[in-house]
Amino acid sequence: MAGILDARPRVGYFYVGNQTADLWSEVIGKYLVKDYKSVPVVVQEHTTVYDAIVTMFLEDVGTLFVVREKGTLAGVASRKDLLKVAIGQSNLHEVPISLAMTRMPNIATIALDATMYDAAKKLIEAQVDSLPVVKPGSDQTVEVVGRVTKTTITRLLVELGSARNV
Ligand code: ADP
Repeated sequence: MAGILDARPRVGYFYVGNQTADLWSEVIGKYLVKDYKSVPVVVQEHTTVYDAIVTMFLEDVGTLFVVREKGTLAGVASRKDLLKVAIGQSNLHEVPISLAMTRMPNIATIALDATMYDAAKKLIEAQVDSLPVVKPGSDQTVEVVGRVTKTTITRLLVELGSARNV
């Protein structure tokens, strides 16, 4: 009944595969990034590390996306990137965030029409907390239109779990 074992006359019981796992990837694969993404918190490349830290507190996020004019993605700054500058000798009011961030093209991103499974897999593979949701811009640039974080994935899991318990 659980779909894990089956029985045939004169054969006996046999393993039919992990259908629960198949079912799960089928379920999570139906949810699209464009429906679950949250609002990205962005700063400009010339923003100082001090102002970036203030933005992180005020917006209550762990990762900032750094953009050029017109919202094209330049890089990503995480808590630890900012801590690294903060424990150094630099003047936080003078160092621009562009010197502390991880920059393009070394950024793991996710497209609007990708599934939440794709996003979860990418977060794990890239070993990061947050992915910018992007759409193609002009001249091989990408425009930031959202974010998917480990919290976004956890929220979806809770939503699926509570639906099951109703
Ligand atoms: P933290 O540094 O606070 O633990 P992360 O694990 O997300 O947060 O970040 C680790 C490193 O990976 C940081 O140097 C950060 O700039 C970089 N990083 C964060 N998000 C991404 C991403 N989507 N793609 C590539 N690098 C990223």
